[in-house]
Amino acid sequence: MTNQEHVELGRQYVMNTYGRLPIAFVRGQGARLWDSDGKEYLDFLSGLAVNSLGHCHPKVVQAIQKQAEELLHVSNLYWIEGQNKLAQAIVNNSFADKVFFCNSGAEANEGAIKLARKYAKKTWGEEKYEIITMEHSFHGRTLAALTATGQRKYQEGFAPLPTGFRYVPFGDLKALAEAINSHTCAIMIEPIQGEGGVNIADKTYWEGLAQIVAEHNLLLIVDEVQSGMGRTGKLFAYDHYGLQPNIMTLAKALGGGVPIGAMAATDEVASAFSPGDHASTFGGNPLVTSAGLAVMEVMLEEGFLSRVQEMGSYLQEQLNKMAQKHSSIVEVRGLGLMVACQLDREGTAIVSSCLEKGLIINCTAGKVLRFLPPLTINRHDIDQAITILDTAFMAQGNG
Ligand code: PMP
Repeated sequence: MTNQEHVELGRQYVMNTYGRLPIAFVRGQGARLWDSDGKEYLDFLSGLAVNSLGHCHPKVVQAIQKQAEELLHVSNLYWIEGQNKLAQAIVNNSFADKVFFCNSGAEANEGAIKLARKYAKKTWGEEKYEIITMEHSFHGRTLAALTATGQRKYQEGFAPLPTGFRYVPFGDLKALAEAINSHTCAIMIEPIQGEGGVNIADKTYWEGLAQIVAEHNLLLIVDEVQSGMGRTGKLFAYDHYGLQPNIMTLAKALGGGVPIGAMAATDEVASAFSPGDHASTFGGNPLVTSAGLAVMEVMLEEGFLSRVQEMGSYLQEQLNKMAQKHSSIVEVRGLGLMVACQLDREGTAIVSSCLEKGLIINCTAGKVLRFLPPLTINRHDIDQAITILDTAFMAQGNG
């Protein structure tokens, strides 16, 4: 089938919830994708941080193939080998002691919100339920997750929304301190805001936040759905800031391309859940957790994460050089391979121009070009991406 035929079939039968581009990808390998017409693309978005090991990483494919021949799923009424071992790997490499598995980032955040409330009510009383989240944050599209999300556009048309959320500007300690009241039980925050525009707060903010959390005896929930699993050059981004969260959510890169979510917590907090309090039929099934284990194994190999930092610095250096040539680039920022160019204008024209030339990037928060290449990217691929981007800026006449 051609791209056009895929587009027509999709338009007829698939519910219209995405502003899709007229491309159907049919094959991927490493940082490369091919569409249905055979055109090759360099992927600097990784399915929005999903394909962090590149497309069809051999170890992930092998793990899935092997598991598919043995057992797909029975149910969470029984113990699951891959789930146990993936939970162990997450615990051994984070603050957490216990892990709950689900199928997406939104679902992981739903679990985190439920656990925080349950813990707070049990420990501090019925009146403790309010969760402070950040303006421009993104936590998913299910009802509680979109209510936690600090962007009105995701909430419009879906009222009545769950109550008990309060929003403050990201990076503003004074506003955070002022928002706390007798109902507050938790702060929920992305270590780096992804959909909000790759927004980074400085170390002093995080030190202040940790102080506020301690002073007011609050829970700290970090949403690592986009920033986690090696993306920033550490396995989890909260580690850059010396934070001690109580709850963390994961998804996207955790499965290397298959749908998996996880919500991890300290023993103290996790013990607020009793059997029956929360569940997911497919959560942590053998197939996806075998993929997750393969991802974890690769990311924990010696030198993997330091290479992410090295490639991230190289990408930022090259973008900074480009910024000197194109005045429409106001700022280059990022951590590891979560990188952005702040423009002085809308970025969609640049994204389209890159796509035409075979480079996949994305534009978020209107004027922010976002780069989330596979963590396995090399200098050669970065150079190629920069050349295409440079041409796109010149073609647009952007300075
Ligand atoms: N949290 C963050 C930080 C995200 O970036 C996203 C997805 N972009 C989500 C949650 C929601 O994840 P999912 O689409 O898997 O529900």
